[in-house]
Amino acid sequence: MNRLGWIAVTGLMMAAAASAQVRSAHPVADAAALDLAKRAIALRSVAGPSNKTPEVAALFKAALVAGGFADSDVEITRVDDTAYLIGTWPGTDPTLKPLVISGHMDVVEAKPSDWQRDPFTPVVEDGYLYGRGATDMKLDGAIAIAALTELRRQGYKPRRTIIIEFSGDEETVMKTSAIIAERLKNADLVLNIDGGGGVLDEATGKPEYFTWQGAEKTYADFEITITNPGGHSSAPRPVNAIVQLSRVLERIGAYRFKPELSPLTRAALTAAAPYEEPEIGKAMLAFVADPTDERAIATLVANPSTVGRIGTTCVATMVSAGHALNALPQKAVANINCRIFPGHKPAEIMAELQRVAAEPAATFKDVTEGSVPNDASPMRPDFIAAVEKAMRRIYPGVPVFPSQASGASDSMWFRYHNVPSYGASPTFLKESDDFSHGLNERTPVMNIAPGITYYLSLFADLSK
Ligand SMILES: [Zn+2]
Repeated sequence: MNRLGWIAVTGLMMAAAASAQVRSAHPVADAAALDLAKRAIALRSVAGPSNKTPEVAALFKAALVAGGFADSDVEITRVDDTAYLIGTWPGTDPTLKPLVISGHMDVVEAKPSDWQRDPFTPVVEDGYLYGRGATDMKLDGAIAIAALTELRRQGYKPRRTIIIEFSGDEETVMKTSAIIAERLKNADLVLNIDGGGGVLDEATGKPEYFTWQGAEKTYADFEITITNPGGHSSAPRPVNAIVQLSRVLERIGAYRFKPELSPLTRAALTAAAPYEEPEIGKAMLAFVADPTDERAIATLVANPSTVGRIGTTCVATMVSAGHALNALPQKAVANINCRIFPGHKPAEIMAELQRVAAEPAATFKDVTEGSVPNDASPMRPDFIAAVEKAMRRIYPGVPVFPSQASGASDSMWFRYHNVPSYGASPTFLKESDDFSHGLNERTPVMNIAPGITYYLSLFADLSK
């Protein structure tokens, strides 16, 4: 999903130390990663008829088995038109809970006629790998597979079992995501290779900072319905369902949920502030110092890129009402879409909206599909130390800090089971280059060699 969604890069105030471009120590793994990514992009793994996700699974399995995984340790399971993959590298200490590396194989639909190049013909040009999935997330998956293979080749023996899994419908219904998380809910920690990530400076192309994703907001849809006996529009009743619903929406639209700060967002806002426009950065720091600072809150709430970072947001997204031009409406329905701050359950937020609506005739119903409530993962010192160390290996001096996404990724399904999950992809992009889900998706190939070095360090540290 949209790894960098909320990050606005505008400043250069914290000059990141120039990174020495690492000369690759593992050219074979680098070449294998690019080759695997290209072959995966060529398979149109889009939900629906002729979904090629099962073929991506077969391709990934072949790469893992060629890299030393036992054939019987890489399982592919078909589900509807898709499939998921679970590959196991048994650790030497079976009493330890496994490390899970989590990704997905499906991609968002791409219409060739809209693209400058065919989305399913991978091309490397001007330092970029082009194609649907180049960013989200076939290159990331290929880099992780190549790094695991390299780790095996080097003779590394994990104490903790390492499981690499790829879901097959992360971009749509997340049925396989839910199944995988249920099966692997005994994990010690989940490393989501489709979250977090680094930002490249727009002008210089140098790494500016890196964030790991430790939380995401809970997605919810609430349906509000008001009914009325209706009748002829020439004889209006004093009570009209459309008017009632309008008033409810007006109240909800004007309502602001209480601003909140968690240990994770405190760290995230503090570290991200220097990269924002000065006024926004100042408001972020003022809010961290005092979460009741009304001036800071007003600034952050007025800005679409920050409003979601300081609390729950709910917004009307759809309405439908009435059945004829000349009839009194018998029914008026609205959908309210919420992004719930970690720590709250959807039922609690729906009850709050119901109070705000102050309309006894309105009935509220949670109609959320494909999402489950999830809280922030703990700020685990072992994970933070490992990710900071891995990043120092490739980009010494580049700031590393946490982030909270507005949702939703496969981490949600693990956090729902209280398994700590962290998005920590080593891919760095210019914000202007983030075309995941969009047209002409591309990722700089210079990410491959450092990505492998980073994973070699991180996979080993989290499994030894
Ligand atoms: Zn994704």
